[in-house]
Amino acid sequence: MTKKFSRKIGQKIVIGNWKMNPLTVAEAKRIIVSVKKAAKKLNRTKVVICPPSPFIGYALPRVPEKSTAKGVVSVGAQDVFYEEQGAFTGEVSARQLADMDLGYVIVGHSERRRAGEGAFAAETDVVVAKKAIAVAQAGMVAVLCVGETVRDAHGEYLDFLRNQIRASLQGFSKKYIEERRLVVAYEPVWAIGAKEAMTPTLIHEMTIFVKKVLADLYGQEEAFDVPVLYGGSVNFRNAADIIRGGEVNGLLVGRESVNAPGFAELIRAVDEVK
Ligand code: PEP
Repeated sequence: MTKKFSRKIGQKIVIGNWKMNPLTVAEAKRIIVSVKKAAKKLNRTKVVICPPSPFIGYALPRVPEKSTAKGVVSVGAQDVFYEEQGAFTGEVSARQLADMDLGYVIVGHSERRRAGEGAFAAETDVVVAKKAIAVAQAGMVAVLCVGETVRDAHGEYLDFLRNQIRASLQGFSKKYIEERRLVVAYEPVWAIGAKEAMTPTLIHEMTIFVKKVLADLYGQEEAFDVPVLYGGSVNFRNAADIIRGGEVNGLLVGRESVNAPGFAELIRAVDEVK
């Protein structure tokens, strides 16, 4: 029988998405050392870092991901391919990531979904759903990124978000929800890489909305168990307020996750929120 993925009740999750940063192995190692040091002092926060693939090896913990030992920084991937193995040059499969003891894989980040000029992946919801399923099947947690690109005055963004969540979870079975293989990261695209984050009040509204969509798909109790994170211009100054006021289960952090002192401060601030 497959085990539930270990997650303590009430535990907050902070995921650092390094994207295509930093430039050197030396800098990557420096950030990893800093995060691990700061994580040792945490009591109620799980930290996951998602470095670029070539740096993953330097970040891997010596203990298996499933351990709940204090101070363990989990390692995740920023993307995955949905096929298991074969002639797919440049891709990495979920089975390969799981075999390296990775616990989390981001799927459907807006930078990968983006279409048009300058886009490099243009992933559809169909592709994102296949990736999420592959991750869960391999025994890891899929961190599904969703979020509207614009916020119109008529509330159409809510329909957009509902449809995006439903389509990105097409075929993602309730069994995986029960095994706790899903985290949803609500990231309004307009707030990513921006000057300011969404306000905690609005984040709270959106968290409720996301939970409602999940409840319609999987049932109230099951949806309650799915952690909903917020992402978009989070830094060490606003993190605690977002956790408190937004009533989210954690954060997905971009820029601040490669700023070693800022990220250390951020996880400390989050951990202090009771
Ligand atoms: C992101 O890209 O997922 C993100 C949240 O970026 P930032 O924190 O830099 O806005």
